[in-house]
Amino acid sequence: MNNQKVAIITGGGRGIGAATVRLFAKNDYAVCINYQSNVEAANQLAQEVKAQGGQCITVQADVSNESDVERLFATVERELGAISVLVNNAGILKKQMRLEEMSAERINAVLINNVTSYFLCCREAVKRMSTRHGGVGGVIVNVSSGAACSGSPNEYIDYAASKGAVDTLTKGLSLEVAAEGIRVNCVRPGLIYTDMHASGGEPDRIARLAKNIPLQRGGLPEEVAEAIFWLASDKSSFATGSFLNVSGGL
Ligand code: NAP
Repeated sequence: MNNQKVAIITGGGRGIGAATVRLFAKNDYAVCINYQSNVEAANQLAQEVKAQGGQCITVQADVSNESDVERLFATVERELGAISVLVNNAGILKKQMRLEEMSAERINAVLINNVTSYFLCCREAVKRMSTRHGGVGGVIVNVSSGAACSGSPNEYIDYAASKGAVDTLTKGLSLEVAAEGIRVNCVRPGLIYTDMHASGGEPDRIARLAKNIPLQRGGLPEEVAEAIFWLASDKSSFATGSFLNVSGGL
């Protein structure tokens, strides 16, 4: 254990989470790479970080599961020390369809994975960071989506609504804990090159939609990671309850 700042990045093994892990580790944070099932991706990333002199651990935990989240935070605290930053990034989307085709099972899966998970991780972070509970403060960055604003018609309104809930969580929690040393901010990525679009059933979705993006291209996970890192760092010390669109102007 040492005085290094500690960051938990949920869904840190792949995509935007992995780019965020790399950036925090490069900037001397001790990082927890949380993953759900892709142990190979998480371990490979951990090896890469360590080979470059960074400090990290991997922790398997389904962040939609309450006891997993409690175990995740307890493990990080025990192995890396007091938690300074939580990046709520883990998320899922399901196959593209119209609302009238959606089952309750699907809708609930999206909401529990994208909303309940963020609430549970925020809860565990606040319990540790808040000056009200003897903590020294900290920062939470929630990864929402441009979908919270567009509504994602004909694709996945359930996913878009889950990100709307993330925005409201950010707003409410930022005010609830502002006087307790905790800043809570939000990044809304646009169309970013990750595996997520394949989960929606259209791996080449960005190629189809790029012409609608004012900057005329999809974004890279690294470009989102920079925004997350800035909002987590002291450079954004007067920002809380803020929403940063990283969407090429969409
Ligand atoms: P991705 O490449 O599909 O990666 C998702 C990550 O989340 C994986 O590491 C996965 O773990 C993890 N995960 C999912 N459910 C989990 C759970 N219940 N517990 C723990 N980990 C879980 O996705 P991405 O594109 O990087 O997305 C990251 C975030 O950005 C998400 O919140 C997404 O909604 C948001 N976003 C993405 C885009 C985009 O265009 N890509 C746009 C806007 C917003 P495993 O590796 O173990 O499977």
